[in-house]
Amino acid sequence: LGRKLNAALSSLNRAPIVDEKVLDATLKEITSALLESDVNVKLVASLRQKVKAKVKAASDSADKTKDSNRRHLLQKAVFDELVALVDPGVEPYKPTKGKCNVIMAVGLQGNGKTTTCTKLAVHYQKRGFKSAIVCADTFRAGAFDQTRQSATKAKVAYFGSYTETDPVAIASQGVSKFKKERFEVIIVDTSGRHRQEKELFAEMVEIGNAVKPDMTVLILDASIGQAAEAQSRAFKESADFGAIIVTKMDGHAKGGGAISAVAATKTPIIFLGVGEHLHDLDRFSPQPFISKLLGLGDVQGLMEHMQDLAHQNPDKQKEMAKKLEEGKLSIRDWREQLQNVMNMGPISKIASMIPGLPQEMLQGSDEEGSLRLKRMIYITDSMTAAELDSDGSPFLETAKDGKPTALTWRVTRVAKGSGTSVREVEELLCQYRVMGNMAKQAGGKNGWLSTMQKMQ
Ligand code: GDP
Ligand code: MG
Repeated sequence: LGRKLNAALSSLNRAPIVDEKVLDATLKEITSALLESDVNVKLVASLRQKVKAKVKAASDSADKTKDSNRRHLLQKAVFDELVALVDPGVEPYKPTKGKCNVIMAVGLQGNGKTTTCTKLAVHYQKRGFKSAIVCADTFRAGAFDQTRQSATKAKVAYFGSYTETDPVAIASQGVSKFKKERFEVIIVDTSGRHRQEKELFAEMVEIGNAVKPDMTVLILDASIGQAAEAQSRAFKESADFGAIIVTKMDGHAKGGGAISAVAATKTPIIFLGVGEHLHDLDRFSPQPFISKLLGLGDVQGLMEHMQDLAHQNPDKQKEMAKKLEEGKLSIRDWREQLQNVMNMGPISKIASMIPGLPQEMLQGSDEEGSLRLKRMIYITDSMTAAELDSDGSPFLETAKDGKPTALTWRVTRVAKGSGTSVREVEELLCQYRVMGNMAKQAGGKNGWLSTMQKMQ
């Protein structure tokens, strides 16, 4: 979906003038991309109309709107309407530190509850919340074993029982145990299957009454596409939930359908499950999601990510986020971010947020990605203090034709010192520059993001 939308917008960028014809062609491409990913026909038709109306109204009001303005107007209208498509306009619950936040997961069996509970625990634990999982699924044979194994692997505390058959009793025991031990995020995993649907809903209500969750999360499988709306409405009638996680977004062409259908139920999606591994959980919020989908990076997400690291060093991270936004990140700052990335989890997750990061960073296994990152850090280890504090310019000289080229002796010295090659050092400098430029373009004062904000 992203690739197609991205293509539609880039052909718009290439069009010499933006007239009615270009407008229609762009809208047609966008429409077909959305329909292909199973977004509801009515929603798509209304998006198309709204974009057209917006562009028309704006062009009429400013007599003779300049062409570049029309282009901008169209881009912004498309962006805004795509955001509206996935935005239910409701703020989800956010766990707070120093408090026991109880989260209960509900949803049909097989939708990914147990997997997602572990991912959530890992997510919060990485951000400094002491996290635990309570397995209140007594229906499925081996449920507690599944929790025990994945929680152990994730180094997260867990609670459950092989002998107790009452899920309400287990849930209460687990939650009060972890509350006593001052856990900050306590996640209750439930069963999701019963002989009777009524029994399932009754069980959820009982567990809910017993543990009084701060947030109940419905876990939905992306492959059901538009049916996500009906399924979430059915659950809402019995077990009121305040947030949704859509799982299996990897490899499902219908993901767009599920997300837009959920937005129609006015419940915020908080995360997307994007794989079977512990770290395959993406935070969801409408604007950054669309920005990333359109290939514009996710500077906001990246900054949030940096702020999440604030429990390690709050002031430092604030300063970093500001520098990134202003495009003033030195090589030293960048190295620090690379190190943080290594501590946060798989590089591929973070890399997709960074505008312009070379595709090869996203390819290969995460071990390969980490290894590449480590080599990058070795390279910076061989730089002098002045070089680290610079914006990379000491490594450049101006050639006779006026173009900047790498300063050979400096690059060679760093390559020798770090046991890498001249090519690798040059690549690193190049990546650093690309990152800086892209971040500046997207997040800087005259950047894409703030232009968007100014126009609102
Ligand atoms: P539960 O019955 O709701 O607890 O579901 P499980 O957590 O046991 O998951 C059912 C299956 O879906 C397992 O094989 C998981 O590995 C798989 N699964 C869960 N989330 C994702 C996801 O985001 N992507 C993919 N590809 N598979 C997932
Ligand atoms: Mg389960």
